[in-house]
Amino acid sequence: MTPELSVEQFTVAARAFLDENAEPRSEEKFVWGEGTDRVGLLDEKEPEQEAAEVAAAKQWKAAEFDAGFGWITGPEEFGGRALPKEYERAYSEAKSGYRIPSQQPFVIGLGMVAPTILAHAVPAVKERYLRAMYRGDVVGCQLFSEPVAGSDLAGIQTKAVRDGDEWILTGQKVWTSGAQYSDIGEIITRSDPDQPKHKGLTMFVVDMKAPGVDVRPLRQMTGGASFNEVFFEEVRVPESHRLGDVNEGWTVALTTLMNERAAIGGGGSGSGFGAQNMTRFVEMARYLGLADDPVVRQRLADAFVRANVARYTNLRAMAKIRAGQLPGPEMSIAKLALTQNMQRLAQTVSEMLGPRLAADTGEWGTFANVEFVLGIPGVRVAGGTDEIMRNIVGERVLGLPKEPRPA
Ligand SMILES: Cc1cc2nc3c(=O)[nH]c(=O)nc-3n(C[C@H](O)[C@H](O)[C@H](O)COP(=O)(O)OP(=O)(O)OC[C@H]3O[C@@H](n4cnc5c(N)ncnc54)[C@H](O)[C@@H]3O)c2cc1C
Repeated sequence: MTPELSVEQFTVAARAFLDENAEPRSEEKFVWGEGTDRVGLLDEKEPEQEAAEVAAAKQWKAAEFDAGFGWITGPEEFGGRALPKEYERAYSEAKSGYRIPSQQPFVIGLGMVAPTILAHAVPAVKERYLRAMYRGDVVGCQLFSEPVAGSDLAGIQTKAVRDGDEWILTGQKVWTSGAQYSDIGEIITRSDPDQPKHKGLTMFVVDMKAPGVDVRPLRQMTGGASFNEVFFEEVRVPESHRLGDVNEGWTVALTTLMNERAAIGGGGSGSGFGAQNMTRFVEMARYLGLADDPVVRQRLADAFVRANVARYTNLRAMAKIRAGQLPGPEMSIAKLALTQNMQRLAQTVSEMLGPRLAADTGEWGTFANVEFVLGIPGVRVAGGTDEIMRNIVGERVLGLPKEPRPA
């Protein structure tokens, strides 16, 4: 069925909304010594700044949703406009020309949690959360990893015990990004310890403000605290908030993991990171008097080439998704390329800066790179470690024999 509104008419309306609510983005030229010198990889802020940014993000999201651009492809009964994907692309393209508040607080909730709720929740739960999530009123987080289970996610131990119309959750999650400002979480639990580990798992939507939920920030070596440990002490969850069938949580978790890889691969791989920061690092070489050093020149040229190769691989994978195919193993290549390129670049930056990276003298653009260099190990681990990505590429792309796995 062809929608009554053409893409052209839709884009005119989108531009009118954007003109009224946002400033056009001017061509930003990087000038050494001007503006902020922060080059962080993780979303780290002081609590007051974070609260202000979350408030600004929510205000924008509400205005966008109320104007009809918050969930362009979503089903109408849950607040979407049920328009084809090309309308969403047209809006993203129009929006990229405007300066809007960072939408970082919604990345996990809308990128992973909402699609899982849409695919696996009962209608009343979809009704309760989806509209509110896409309007920015409800923020979601992902409660998967535990101290004993990360790469081997099926090893989780948080317990879920049925009690009439409710479930009682007890256990600990860790590395939960954004839990400190989230309203709900998507949690994977062990509901039957007697079944094999990929069976006996059940997923829920849990209220992060419920009695018994305790969110404690974890400080990273970069200095920031963007993720948390979350403790669950006999937290009661209504049976209606179960996602998918009892003991079938693994299938539900896979919906989230597919979307996670697509979000990470799609968001990084050289596009924003490569182009913008390469200029910064080239200017750094000039500032430090190293622009004629043959080794530095070669390393920077190499980083530039690799960032662009990663970008094209990524664009190919994204085109496949846009054409309606599932995110495939390309996403693992994209993620691996991103982290390997960052790692190499960090090595070059560290060598260029030398002692300037060890002590903060207030010199612009030097010590600030510590946040970049020390943030990389986290990015190499988040959303599937380098080794796990290599396993996927080896087994699923190259068709190598599978690594031995205990039963
Ligand atoms: C910045 C950041 C944000 C995160 N946000 C979230 C979040 O919001 N929600 C959430 O649930 N989790 C989150 N995580 C956790 C993340 O998903 C896990 O850290 C990740 O899955 C790895 O698990 P682990 O830390 O337990 O390491 P482990 O799985 O214990 O791995 C330890 C080491 O062993 C290697 N290894 C493990 N298995 C194999 C294998 N089969 N073959 C070869 N090598 C192997 C790994 O590569 C790694 O080097 C986040 C992590 C980071 C760093």
